[in-house]
Amino acid sequence: MVLIGPPGAGKGTQASILAAHYHIPHISTGDMLRQEVKLSTTIGRQIKDCLAAGNLVSDSMILGLVEMRLQQMDCRQGFILDGFPRSQVQAEATHALLERLAKPLTAVVQLIMPDEEIVTRLSFRRVCSECTRTYHLLYNAPKTEDCCDVDGAPLIQRADDTENSIRNRLTVYHRQTEPVVEYYRRTPLLKEISAEGEVNSITQAILSALAKVAA
Ligand code: ADP
Ligand code: AMP
Repeated sequence: MVLIGPPGAGKGTQASILAAHYHIPHISTGDMLRQEVKLSTTIGRQIKDCLAAGNLVSDSMILGLVEMRLQQMDCRQGFILDGFPRSQVQAEATHALLERLAKPLTAVVQLIMPDEEIVTRLSFRRVCSECTRTYHLLYNAPKTEDCCDVDGAPLIQRADDTENSIRNRLTVYHRQTEPVVEYYRRTPLLKEISAEGEVNSITQAILSALAKVAA
């Protein structure tokens, strides 16, 4: 399945819960790219500024990374794509790729969230520097200040969670990713879910939408 929605809608939060529920991998293209930056690989050095500014990396680069990832053994029973596809070109290439791999999509879950809420969500987001688990200083604070509950590693603020970058990412979302939502609206795959409210109630709404697909 694909999880799609504006930055800060809770895609990563929901994807990690759903991945544990269905025992399938959570594939976050943002996490994959940040790992390249962290390791200062050739790709990482090329995309560092692009990520910090909140622009999309090139379609060919991300398609190459996703194609390799989907061929790994842990994707045999399914996968959750978080943050991909994010442009019309990526959506069309994904369709062709998944046909070739004989792994058709079951559902595309759209998390709907108004722009005003997003700045609050993202300004207070913190992530574990080791395991990438996500926290929110107001809504989902760690038990010990600035430390991950799971591994105790320091929490950091993402380089793109600044007000300028957040605003740019919203513009990029409306311009480049909303057409992808429209692309999936023309198929039976799209499930629209409100991203406002408690994390648990959003998970329940997604699970019941997916149960209807499976039925
Ligand atoms: P995305 O992956 O869509 O960018 P995240 O899952 O990282 O979004 O969530 C953005 C921020 O909002 C994080 O700090 C997260 O802890 C918080 N968050 C996620 N879902 C909710 C929710 N339902 N209510 C309040 N805060 C939330
Ligand atoms: P995210 O973690 O999903 O918020 O993504 C963080 C950043 O990674 C984005 O602002 C882009 O710079 C880059 N990125 C993630 N996924 C994609 C994608 N599918 N296509 C292009 N760029 C991406």
